[in-house]
Amino acid sequence: MPEGYIGKGFFTTTYEKAIGLARKNSIWPLPFATSCCGIEFMATMGAHYDLARFGSERLSFSPRQSDLLMVMGTIAKKMGPVLKEVYIQMAEPRWVIAVGACASSGGIFDTYSVLQGIDRIIPVDTYVPGCPPRPEQIINGILSIQELVANETFRRRNSLEYKTLLAKYGID
Ligand code: SF4
Repeated sequence: MPEGYIGKGFFTTTYEKAIGLARKNSIWPLPFATSCCGIEFMATMGAHYDLARFGSERLSFSPRQSDLLMVMGTIAKKMGPVLKEVYIQMAEPRWVIAVGACASSGGIFDTYSVLQGIDRIIPVDTYVPGCPPRPEQIINGILSIQELVANETFRRRNSLEYKTLLAKYGID
């Protein structure tokens, strides 16, 4: 429950906190899975771990209908522009999780062909460690995104700081 005033039969809070609560519990992920970490995500969506409990059962492969980009797996440098295009096509507000060592840092693939972390081409909000991370760790990543979503102010996306961050990545 967000901060607010509670009384007999009523509860009041700010508009911003109410929207944050709704957004937090209805995150639509776009799974960008290229290799083994994607298999762990399949388990995360299965009946045992059941990501639907957190309001994220509606996966979308359409960037315009998603607000959380989950990058899972090794990202070859050739794939980088595709990933960036998907990110750009997502509407604001949007968030990004790098799932596993490969997406976070290139992992064991310290080679000329592999991107050494997706934060070289797009901003990342949360990193999930592991090779591969267990479904519990992926859920933990989602929970930390939920915290961000619930507490993000309306003004953040229009702030100079955020615009500077995007400009650093060459994104308008
Ligand atoms: S972090 Fe490990 S499990 Fe995940 S995609 Fe890379 S090699 Fe596969």
